[in-house]
Amino acid sequence: MTIVIIGAGLGGLALARVLHVKGIDSEVYEREPSRDARGQGGMLDIHSGQRALREAELLEPFFAIARREGQDMRLLQPDGTLLLQEDTPDDAPLARPEVDRADLRDLLLDSLPEGTVRWGHAFESAGDGVVRFAGGGSTTYDLLVGADGAQSRVRALLTDARPAHIGQNVVEVGIPDIDRTHPDLAAMVGRGNYWVLGDGMSLAAQRNGDGRVRIGLSFYNTPEDWLATTGIPFDDPTAAKARLVELLHGWDARFTALIEACDDAVAPRSLSALPTGLTWPSAPDVTLVGDAAHLMPPVGEGANMALLDGALLGLALAARPDDVPAAVEEYEREMFERTSAAARMSADMQELLMSPNAAERMLAFFQPR
Ligand SMILES: Cc1cc2nc3c(=O)[nH]c(=O)nc-3n(C[C@H](O)[C@H](O)[C@H](O)COP(=O)(O)OP(=O)(O)OC[C@H]3O[C@@H](n4cnc5c(N)ncnc54)[C@H](O)[C@@H]3O)c2cc1C
Repeated sequence: MTIVIIGAGLGGLALARVLHVKGIDSEVYEREPSRDARGQGGMLDIHSGQRALREAELLEPFFAIARREGQDMRLLQPDGTLLLQEDTPDDAPLARPEVDRADLRDLLLDSLPEGTVRWGHAFESAGDGVVRFAGGGSTTYDLLVGADGAQSRVRALLTDARPAHIGQNVVEVGIPDIDRTHPDLAAMVGRGNYWVLGDGMSLAAQRNGDGRVRIGLSFYNTPEDWLATTGIPFDDPTAAKARLVELLHGWDARFTALIEACDDAVAPRSLSALPTGLTWPSAPDVTLVGDAAHLMPPVGEGANMALLDGALLGLALAARPDDVPAAVEEYEREMFERTSAAARMSADMQELLMSPNAAERMLAFFQPR
């Protein structure tokens, strides 16, 4: 049986790893030319996904790279009022530790036999048991797994559904080596998540493992083309930051100071999601894991679901090696139910963030804890 996985993200790698643990080979085709070709982004909080790491026999090494103190949280209003501060005790359980996405991906990549991941292979099309790659080249499969993320091309083999804009546009900026360059701002942000929720806008800052603080400025209830039409000159980082400071008009000076301290990496991101509860009729030789199957608003579920999808599909295939269609159907039944619930929860949280009194509602959400 040849299992071909498209995409070496968290979902595809978790699947390859669990298959390997169960003695089953797979081939992972990734369009990036190498593991370091592209920055992997910031921190992920891993909770339900820990089960996948246990099945992958990687839970202990995961705890070694996870940051307990990354669970700290500060919630503020634009006028500077601190609404909530939660500091994680040194002996707190690692219920939702933060991990650098690159570290987690490296852990999974290093756990696979040499040659499992074939870099520089961009999926283009598939049919009749043959996958074709951009620029030529092909391979055969018995089972094709689309783990190719939000803009999946494999998805079209199973459903016409496409991600739609969720009314949120984000500009990402960051402060490198904050302890040395801006110790005052480092103390303000703290060790974990720092959130300022205003009307129609939020600022989310988070310390990464390498000492960089990543900052996402979100603009809610904005159309898909908002970033292109709002006058932020992304080709001129200094002017772009000045425009962001203007957009924070009326916010406490400490928050605009955060933006002014950022380096020149200014990245726009328009957010989209698949319909909540998306399903498709099961096919015997193609399925999806991760964002390809259920892209949802980024409020802390997607990576956990991708890891679980990969691990649970691996277990289903290992349990029924002679009946792949039945294994795929069993996997999809559980996956549809689990990820629909996560997508509903994410949509509710998204609705809260977009509401006029987001800070008070978020405080009420966290306080019972
Ligand atoms: C800003 C942000 C913060 C987030 N924070 C969290 C969090 O704290 N917790 C959480 O649980 N989730 C979080 N998420 C969601 C999480 O990042 C995703 O849900 C998760 O990465 C999905 O994993 P995946 O393997 O499905 O896709 P990806 O990680 O996107 O991997 C897909 C892979 O497929 C490759 N690929 C794409 N197209 C092709 C092709 N044609 N051919 C070959 N390869 C291809 C890509 O290069 C990539 O390597 C966040 C998302 C964002 C945007």
